[in-house]
Amino acid sequence: MNNVDRRGLLGSAVLGAGGLMTLAGAARAANPGDGGIARHAVALPPGDKVVDHDNTDIEAMPEFKYSLDGSKPKVTSGGWAKEATAHQFKISTGIAGVHMFLDPGASRELHWHAIAAEWAYVLEGQCQTLVLDPSGQRELNSFGPGDLWYFPKGHAHAIQTIGDRPCHFILAFDNGSFSEHGTFSVTDWVSLTPKEMLAADFGVPKDVFDGFPKGETYIMAGPVLAAADVTDEPLPSARSHKFSLDAATPNETDGGSLRLATAQEFPMSQGMSGGVMTLKPGAIREMHWHPNANEWHYYLRGTAQVGLFGSGGRGKIAEFKPGDVAYLPVGYGHAIRNIGKEDLELVITFDSGVYQEISLTGLLAASPRYLLSNNFGVPDSTFAKFASKSGFIRMPT
Ligand code: MN
Ligand code: MN
Repeated sequence: MNNVDRRGLLGSAVLGAGGLMTLAGAARAANPGDGGIARHAVALPPGDKVVDHDNTDIEAMPEFKYSLDGSKPKVTSGGWAKEATAHQFKISTGIAGVHMFLDPGASRELHWHAIAAEWAYVLEGQCQTLVLDPSGQRELNSFGPGDLWYFPKGHAHAIQTIGDRPCHFILAFDNGSFSEHGTFSVTDWVSLTPKEMLAADFGVPKDVFDGFPKGETYIMAGPVLAAADVTDEPLPSARSHKFSLDAATPNETDGGSLRLATAQEFPMSQGMSGGVMTLKPGAIREMHWHPNANEWHYYLRGTAQVGLFGSGGRGKIAEFKPGDVAYLPVGYGHAIRNIGKEDLELVITFDSGVYQEISLTGLLAASPRYLLSNNFGVPDSTFAKFASKSGFIRMPT
């Protein structure tokens, strides 16, 4: 480009900007009575306006309830696993969940996950886990009901039942695309590898591998392992993969409680938080949202009514029973009510080690009455008896 052309371009750019300003000024002058708008300092430009939001313009809100315990299990010799991934449960893009059941004497074989960390809450029975991190540090821990584990993405682990009772637990993964059908299991790898390669790798004759299984064993049956046969090698709490939820200070009100382990209480659990929430009959976990995390529920006891607000005129209400799963996307407003006659209890997880929330009661309590009056188009005295702060879990008065 020569200098003459460049000057020409700059000139037309300046003219262009001037032309736009002139047009905007002309629009203001030409439409003085346009709904009164042109009398204000900030005038609307001429042309079509979006006068209202079109609800059909955005995707309908997907279902946020799925029956995990009602789904088809993956069954092998020593137990089973049922899963809720984004494949079966479309909305749950951030968190996948599993209910895994190990018979006495069974082990969930050595494996790792390429795309997700694993968080667990033990429901019943006893088990031991092995975990090996990339620095070569291993940990062996025994678990019972109410204990949590957390295995970072890609770290090797296995789970083995201790004693003569089954062990089952809820697993949550920080990626909705995670599937139990896609874990990296060592039997799978070994059976896909030529025996010459295995012999070279392990330094043993290749016929050693003649008796190895063909394909993935996944959860393998075996002789019962007595508690006396098991030795733990726990790491210090700052580096441990185990946390007992009993050690978490509950957030408790007259309506119920939440025991939650974030990365603050359970430092290993960098990518997830989780715990157990209990609501008394009639209690409500008040309307709120999480600015930083998706939320996932597995219902243990009772009957819940959950409301989910998805913006753009979209909202859904659903009832949850034991064995059901809920998924509440990041930022979506929600509330939980115990609508049954017994306590409501649920496992609750988030795909962040940091817990954040904003409640609607807190938001209204923080807002000046003149703003609320204008916002809702009602007299400001309407808000005189509204809660003056967040109640977390509230009993109706
Ligand atoms: Mn795993
Ligand atoms: Mn929530």
